[in-house]
Amino acid sequence: MSASAAAGRGRPHAVVIGSGFGGLAAAVRLGARGYRVTVLERLDAPGGRAYVHHQDGFTFDAGPTIVTAPFLFRELWELAGRRFEDDIDLRLMDPFYRVRFHDGEQFDYTGDDERMRAEVSRFSPRDVAGYERYMEASREIFRVGFEQLSSEPFTRFTDMARILPSLIRLQSYRSVHGMVSRYVRDPQLRQVLSFHPLLIGGNPFSVTSVYCLIEYLEQHWGVHYVMGGTGRLAAGLADLIAGQGNEVRYGADVEAITVENGRATGVELASGERIGADIVVSNADAAWTYRHLVPAGARRRWTDQRLERSRYSMGLFVWYFGTAQQYTQVPHHTILMGPRYKELIEDIFRRKVLADDFSLYLHRPSATDPSVAPAGHDAYYVLSPVPNLEGNIDWEERAEPYRRAIAEYLRGSVLPGLDEQLVTSRVTTPQDFYHRLKAFRGAAFSLEPALHQSAWFRPHNRSEDVEHLYLVGAGTHPGAGLPGVVSSARVLDKVVPDASAFT
Ligand SMILES: Cc1cc2nc3c(=O)[nH]c(=O)nc-3n(C[C@H](O)[C@H](O)[C@H](O)COP(=O)(O)OP(=O)(O)OC[C@H]3O[C@@H](n4cnc5c(N)ncnc54)[C@H](O)[C@@H]3O)c2cc1C
Repeated sequence: MSASAAAGRGRPHAVVIGSGFGGLAAAVRLGARGYRVTVLERLDAPGGRAYVHHQDGFTFDAGPTIVTAPFLFRELWELAGRRFEDDIDLRLMDPFYRVRFHDGEQFDYTGDDERMRAEVSRFSPRDVAGYERYMEASREIFRVGFEQLSSEPFTRFTDMARILPSLIRLQSYRSVHGMVSRYVRDPQLRQVLSFHPLLIGGNPFSVTSVYCLIEYLEQHWGVHYVMGGTGRLAAGLADLIAGQGNEVRYGADVEAITVENGRATGVELASGERIGADIVVSNADAAWTYRHLVPAGARRRWTDQRLERSRYSMGLFVWYFGTAQQYTQVPHHTILMGPRYKELIEDIFRRKVLADDFSLYLHRPSATDPSVAPAGHDAYYVLSPVPNLEGNIDWEERAEPYRRAIAEYLRGSVLPGLDEQLVTSRVTTPQDFYHRLKAFRGAAFSLEPALHQSAWFRPHNRSEDVEHLYLVGAGTHPGAGLPGVVSSARVLDKVVPDASAFT
């Protein structure tokens, strides 16, 4: 007897574990497909990595701040029968980012062709033609990488074989930095055009050049900010789910996915409550899902050994703070490049040591949105890529000195007098990713997006091990980042059975 029958309801029941963007998008899609959906979230609010911290009158988006590919969100609103613009106020960023080098030189990265060419020319006139050819290449890569790869299921090896010739033609075996270096020669321009994978947990020196598609994605659709913060987008999706007559339950910590005869039958919560389901969709971290939620006896592909052997993305150290004064010269998004690039990335990804120097991303949402800080104040977060928990760094001990070192760097570069201006502060370390978000190895972006861990090689959206178990989110296909995880729900749509199959 199916769980829906057991529950005595007409519609088949889908349980979604986790209310990250992947889980929320999956719930909206399943609701539109006729499922009764229950989202189970262990925290007290939606968003996962996009949780919102309210502190001392400030609103801090915990994670994503850069919204690209807005069409993916519009599609979800349409599926729920609502207009995106009625709920969400998106603002186009200008510049998209300011990249500030250690020597004080700045590159304004915008969505304007002319200004981009002028900026490239200011750094290195001989690289303008190469830059233009690189943007052409990025468009080509987008056509394959986004349009043919990101919303297609890779559940059979033949799916991979089908796309392989295109991947070879586009030289996907090259790294992003390797690809960029074929087109431009100036070392600083190479950094400007290759840092993007870091925003989704990839090492620019090893991640597949498929991720060069991000430049085109940004140039074509823009880089946006959601007024009120990215949390509004998560809350908006939770409202869509409620509007479909479905439920998001908070404080619901899933301890196990129940499996009978190789088939998922529901979940068990830490409280001991059991919830039956016709299908289970896990938006919890993919590695965590297999390692801790699916019984080992039910796993043939994602065994403990395979999970241990896999490579995980970097960790993040994030410092959220508010200042009594506004630093109006600081734009919404700044990338502060440290004195070392490749060597620092090696420290983070390979040597897994906490370096004395850093490259930072500084978010100043109050540049666009006064609602996130008390009047006359500024809200910030600064993010530093650090090793994940494989690095054995004692964050209890290292967090405060590390925060102070970052503060000093900011004081000496873009936020003079910072110490005297601080009015609120909180930090997040890879330990918090592990304990709060249940991120395997404390990785900020789940499995590293290396070619040998992409598409068919990544945990599939339809579980290889357990029937009626599905996965969405950063650790499954296509990968991390808001466009990635929202696309994973698009793929889910292609692999779940129709609700009618259960009646
Ligand atoms: C600091 C930071 C900045 C980022 N910036 C950007 C950006 O600007 N733009 C961008 O596109 N991407 C950005 N990213 C990446 C992006 O935020 C993530 O890839 C994406 O949000 C992950 O979504 P997800 O669907 O995998 O779910 P997650 O956000 O990982 O959420 C999973 C949810 O599952 C819940 N959960 C886990 N285990 C259980 C359980 N057992 N029971 C119940 N619930 C459970 C968790 O509490 C969590 O709410 C950023 C990430 C970070 C960390």
